[in-house]
Amino acid sequence: MTSPADRLRAVRNRIAAAARAAGRDPSSVALLAVSKTWPADDVRALAALGQTAFGENRAQELITKAAALADLPLEWHFVGQLQRNKAAAVARTGAVVHSVDRLPLARALSRTGEEAGRPVDVFLQVDLGGAAGELAERGGAAPADVPGLADDVAVLPGVRLRGLMAVAPRGEEPAPAFARLAALSQRLRADHPEAADLSAGMSGDLEEAIAAGATLVRVGTALFGSRPLASPRVTPVTGAPPGAPEEV
Ligand SMILES: *Cc1c(COP(=O)(O)O)cnc(C)c1O
Repeated sequence: MTSPADRLRAVRNRIAAAARAAGRDPSSVALLAVSKTWPADDVRALAALGQTAFGENRAQELITKAAALADLPLEWHFVGQLQRNKAAAVARTGAVVHSVDRLPLARALSRTGEEAGRPVDVFLQVDLGGAAGELAERGGAAPADVPGLADDVAVLPGVRLRGLMAVAPRGEEPAPAFARLAALSQRLRADHPEAADLSAGMSGDLEEAIAAGATLVRVGTALFGSRPLASPRVTPVTGAPPGAPEEV
């Protein structure tokens, strides 16, 4: 059994080693702890060790957990697919939204940001491809649509465009997929220099993501342990091998 402190140290060491291997400053890579499915007390334990940024992928879970932990100075991120009718509730938690993949969603977030007098930080989620049937479940804009979407989002008054986010496709090596993402990010920054962040890399592929320039890695399993497969929250992906469902 490893402790939360051991796991956090191990992840930080992986990030630092990957950054150095890429000739980057380890402090240029932020760690987002993806606490989905884990109770607020587990977040509290990691927060006590100095971790401040946490991510959730369900609106209601984010709202409940953020409220339960409101006494802590945490930074919340929303990394799941977001329905437009839940955009306002998510934005009101102050969370950074990583999964903007269409303009109506960005507009809904912008309206809430304006009302709150505090812009919502957003990432555009990119669909990096992969096996058929997977895309609709993971979300993301087609790479060809990203520059136009970025132009439209950048002018919205109530959001702040931070950069791009992606999940590596299954059934493909992560490195070439992250290389495509990095090229898209470079192009984005030419038009929108402020959108310099790149949210990529999870427990299994954070090294490849950091090599490609990720500035924020989203790590769940390596920090908290394996999420229970039998959980009703888990939506098995069509075509995934038995025993290996994964929610995103
Ligand atoms: C669950 C999730 C993660 C964390 O995945 P792990 O493999 O558990 O590290 C990262 N990003 C998104 C979008 C997720 O849904």
